[in-house]
Amino acid sequence: RAKREGRDRAVHYTPALEHAAARRVRTEAMLRSALDAGRLQVLYQPVVAMASGEVVGVEALARVIDPEQGPISPALFVDVAEETGLVTRLDEWVLGRASSMAQRWRPPALEAPAPSAAALVARAAMPAVSSIALPDTEALPVNGPRHQLPTVAVNMSSRTLCRPDLALLVRGALQSSGSDPSRLLVEITEHSLLDQGEDARRALDGLTDLGVGVGIDDFGTGWSALSYLAALDLAFMKVDRAFVSRLGTDTSARAVVQAVIDLAHAHRLTVIAEGIETEQQARMLVEMGCDHGQGYWFGRPTPEPDLDAAITSWYERARSVGFGAWSGE
Ligand code: C2E
Ligand code: MG
Ligand code: MG
Ligand code: MG
Repeated sequence: RAKREGRDRAVHYTPALEHAAARRVRTEAMLRSALDAGRLQVLYQPVVAMASGEVVGVEALARVIDPEQGPISPALFVDVAEETGLVTRLDEWVLGRASSMAQRWRPPALEAPAPSAAALVARAAMPAVSSIALPDTEALPVNGPRHQLPTVAVNMSSRTLCRPDLALLVRGALQSSGSDPSRLLVEITEHSLLDQGEDARRALDGLTDLGVGVGIDDFGTGWSALSYLAALDLAFMKVDRAFVSRLGTDTSARAVVQAVIDLAHAHRLTVIAEGIETEQQARMLVEMGCDHGQGYWFGRPTPEPDLDAAITSWYERARSVGFGAWSGE
């Protein structure tokens, strides 16, 4: 970069530049050795249906384990991982793990809420009809039985998205895990879709042809019009945490999120809100008709062995605060 810019203006090497260069070298070495040694981990964060409180899936979030520092989020090295192309190895590894997770994992069931007092009174007033078998509707969860199997979403860098063998890679992962393609979701950031243009569009078609749902991550951070995205064959979009975090304090954030939800729905996209940290944010999003939500308030990214316990404790908390199916409606 210094060379390129040097044509127009002098760029002097400063301690800051040296520092950045040294960081790159160190980060690349750390990343490469972790990939070679398999020092990697996937955490899973629950995705919750806002209307019922039920966990409908998870997002797979990678961690690279540094022997000294412990697990490191890709957010801290994504620039180096993309420049060096090492991100494609990370994505490939996560894809394999996520596919087998999608094949075997089922979240704990959301139990039917206790019948409301009104329902008990109505039932007592009903004449006994012993000869006709009526479905025991009280035994069903409020929103009916689980209508879909859980999904596992992976994040994909634009470097991976533009691999010419992407469809082959994803098909291979699905086949060797025996997972149904509809269980797997791929998240692409709004930025990478815009940067890659026609290549990204082709890759997206390849994935949807396999039956894998593709969605936009971090929506609202780029400059894409939803109408442009609507021309693509997308399954969902994730509203960036930045909007969610301003919901309670900033009335314009609320208007923006509502507009995004309504427009997405007009294009038949599922809307997922990221970064829900408070009950107030969750309740506002339920009111606004947001389909799914994710965030520390529901559950943190969690290693697979602890995931079901985390979900069960979320269900208990939801019951205690009267959220979703437990709101008593
Ligand atoms: P993302 O895909 O937008 O993931 C959401 C990030 O927000 C995650 O950070 C998650 O831990 C964090 N988060 C979830 N709920 C909350 C909340 O309530 N509050 C706050 N403050 N944060 C919350 P994480 O795990 O550090 O990942 C950061 C980014 O790294 C991801 O953003 C994604 O872009 C990237 N990434 C993660 N795993 C992979 C991967 O396997 N491949 C690639 N290419 N990128 C990945
Ligand atoms: Mg994501
Ligand atoms: Mg995101
Ligand atoms: Mg984000």
